Amino acid sequence: MDYFGWQLSNNMLLEDVGHLKALNFNLKDGFEPNKDNWTKLFSKLKWIIEKSGLRDVTSKDFGYCLHFAPGIPRLLRGISMTEPFKESVRENFTNGDFQLGMHSTHGDNEIILKKQFSQVLENDLKYAQEFNVKALVEHAALGSNNQTTKMVELLTKPKITNLMEEHDVIICWENKQAFRKTWRYYSSLKEMVIFLNKLRQQLSELGKTNLIQRHKFCLDVGHLLTWYHQSKDKEMVEAEIKKYLPLFGKETKVFHIHANDGTKDSHITPFSLEFFDHKSRKEIDEAVFIKYSKLVLRWLKICYNTDSTKERHFILEAGTKPYSIDQYLDFAKEFKSYIYSDLTD
Ligand SMILES: [Zn+2]
Repeated sequence: MDYFGWQLSNNMLLEDVGHLKALNFNLKDGFEPNKDNWTKLFSKLKWIIEKSGLRDVTSKDFGYCLHFAPGIPRLLRGISMTEPFKESVRENFTNGDFQLGMHSTHGDNEIILKKQFSQVLENDLKYAQEFNVKALVEHAALGSNNQTTKMVELLTKPKITNLMEEHDVIICWENKQAFRKTWRYYSSLKEMVIFLNKLRQQLSELGKTNLIQRHKFCLDVGHLLTWYHQSKDKEMVEAEIKKYLPLFGKETKVFHIHANDGTKDSHITPFSLEFFDHKSRKEIDEAVFIKYSKLVLRWLKICYNTDSTKERHFILEAGTKPYSIDQYLDFAKEFKSYIYSDLTD
């Protein structure tokens, strides 16, 4: 079974009215993470999956999924609110039809090869275990140079392999956005594929075959759009995506779904022009945004059809305010009819 849902903003738990409004919550005092409120939130998730038809498709139907933004597990633990969440999950879902994922903490000093990475990973794995998280999304290294050897060395050190053996969450390495035309090495799917292959090869040489499938990918289609758009050599990027997207897709456990016009990583629901009169969206080129929304669906379908990674999470990561749950539903419908269509364009 695959899963569909969205990434929950930690600002929602910090009484941010914009997020509560987007999700049609009528809560004057903010979202207190008690059992009733989680149950209300889950009813919205169910509404989207059921209304979009993602659950009607016999034998290929989708389960329900949420991803925690960085900070949520720590927040819930800090105020002793882990149990209400877990209880509500138990009451609302059965037979593994719900899965949870989370985004790693990724401040400047916290991502891989930075000072605090090991400590942060240890904490994230602990949170993941506690909340029964199935997929932990991690960013690859920043910068414009090749750091594959260093990343592989670090991830195969006993300190990290021991940590991973103590937990059973899958780490999903995410392709990076291009940023103001500065070359980002790990925006390239090809370099990501090389990284994963080398990492797995090294694990296998060390006899750590149990960890090979614990490293997968997260495909952020919005990030891929910025890389596609900002690269000077269009022919090269098109050829690279054609060759490497299916290879990347085969190993992809998590999809971050959102769209933009290529100039900036805006995190907007694909196809939706709702809120385009908002001041923050004035500069977005609508025609390009729609064109790229179609590209997003095409990329998702290519990956969907590879069908070799089980229990994939298709996650809307389109929580830039303003947004709405109706946009999410519209996209879910679009997604469903497109991936099940016979079109191969
Ligand atoms: Zn992402």
